[in-house]
Amino acid sequence: MKDKPSQLRSAHSLTLSYEIPIERTKEFWDGIERGKVLTTRCRDCGSISFPPQTDCSECLASDVEWIELSKEAELEAYTKITYPPESFRDRAPYIVGIGRLKEGVKVLAWVIGADITELEVGMRLELVVERSPEGDVGYFFRPA
Ligand SMILES: [Zn+2]
Repeated sequence: MKDKPSQLRSAHSLTLSYEIPIERTKEFWDGIERGKVLTTRCRDCGSISFPPQTDCSECLASDVEWIELSKEAELEAYTKITYPPESFRDRAPYIVGIGRLKEGVKVLAWVIGADITELEVGMRLELVVERSPEGDVGYFFRPA
């Protein structure tokens, strides 16, 4: 903590918890367990949302279907997180990036398998599902 700039130091800790209905995210996490990144597509207008939505963000229709996202992405932006939220403190530093998938949706994910000096806006990425050494399964970008 000695290297942490004083203006970022907080005197208070804050704990937040969220209740997300399991039926809305179960399909997504089941997909992750099978190595697939799933999301929703509107049956009315064809718009794809990520993360998955129960209602279309474009036309507000509630008729959505689950689809598997392609793994091909292009890096649009990235940054190195040196001072992470409390829950990720032991994992820092790490890199997060925004990748635009072939379908046009943007996905925010950790970028693994590359040093920040090897990254470049516009480079090809692959969206992968992997298990971390800590045992968590999640989706990540890695250079294609
Ligand atoms: Zn729609």
